[in-house]
Amino acid sequence: MSEIRDTVILGSGCAGLTAAIYTARAGLKPLVLEGHEPGGQLSITTLVENFPGWPEGIQGPELIDNMKKQAQRFGATFELAHLNAVKVDAHPIRLHTSIGEILTRTLIVASGASARWLGLPSEQALIGHGVSSCATCDGFFFRGKEIAVVGGGDSAMEEALFLTRFAAKVTVLHRREHFRASKIMLERAIAHPNIELRTNTVVDEVLGVEEKEMRGLMIRNVKTGETCKLDVHGLFLGIGHEPNAKMFAGQLDLDEDGYIKTTSNVLTTRQGAIVPGVFACGDVQDRRYRQAITAAGSGCMAALETEKFLEERGR
Ligand code: NDP
Repeated sequence: MSEIRDTVILGSGCAGLTAAIYTARAGLKPLVLEGHEPGGQLSITTLVENFPGWPEGIQGPELIDNMKKQAQRFGATFELAHLNAVKVDAHPIRLHTSIGEILTRTLIVASGASARWLGLPSEQALIGHGVSSCATCDGFFFRGKEIAVVGGGDSAMEEALFLTRFAAKVTVLHRREHFRASKIMLERAIAHPNIELRTNTVVDEVLGVEEKEMRGLMIRNVKTGETCKLDVHGLFLGIGHEPNAKMFAGQLDLDEDGYIKTTSNVLTTRQGAIVPGVFACGDVQDRRYRQAITAAGSGCMAALETEKFLEERGR
């Protein structure tokens, strides 16, 4: 019979690492399964200027590395593994992972959300060098410059409106004629003097790979087939996020976009009833704020709920 752990944390971004620090300090010897993107979204960001405590800002990967070391200092262990399948209503909870079966009394789901990308090699090569999926994180670096936002939903409109605080001009590129965004958001974007909306337009290439700095976009009108260069210094993707929760379908309640539904912020449910011992924190259950600090905060809450849950059961 394999060892039954007190707690396993799924995901090693801000939420998972904060949960690891707290549960490790509580003596629960958490095991963190680092997942497909170790370190989460911060590990692909450059300068983080809005995480309290770093007056000059800190590089995303360094912030993540510090959190990991902090958790390890208190006894958290890490495995470069991911979850294949799970049975949350078993006691103990059974996790089928890439390193074998793991049994645990509690599970903290901090598997995050991944930004959707266009998938162009030039876009991937320039992430952090002009290409970003987070206006709140990186908008500041484009003061006085011209930038483009891709997408036709509320995220794209919100990003475009936010980016007008810094950018000289924002061009929204949308692949269709009609927008998915809510009327109010769309109207605000249309009314803004520094926003131009271009429909039926796709990005074929991000320029500047050799220079390691974005130098514009090659765009194409899908109706006419006409291509041209758009002189912008930044590209923001506003085409949505995918919560990493597919493995919980049928096990936990997910909303219509696949985010884990929680009550009291981190308590998970199944068919509306609380699932004992399974907590969700960070972006996998938060479509609204999606900030490093809010993810860290909910990781702390999930850890405190875990401690309480085990204590109430005499552990
Ligand atoms: P949506 O799925 O609503 O919109 C995604 C947009 O990106 C669509 O216009 C889609 O185009 C486009 N898109 C997707 N994939 C590609 C691609 N490969 N290439 C080009 N374009 C692409 O996601 P959002 O993140 O905008 O919104 C998600 C939810 O969150 C919504 O319910 C929204 O209302 C909500 N939200 C609310 C906000 C608010 O109220 N302040 C702010 C942000 C989000 P197409 O239309 O052709 O499919």
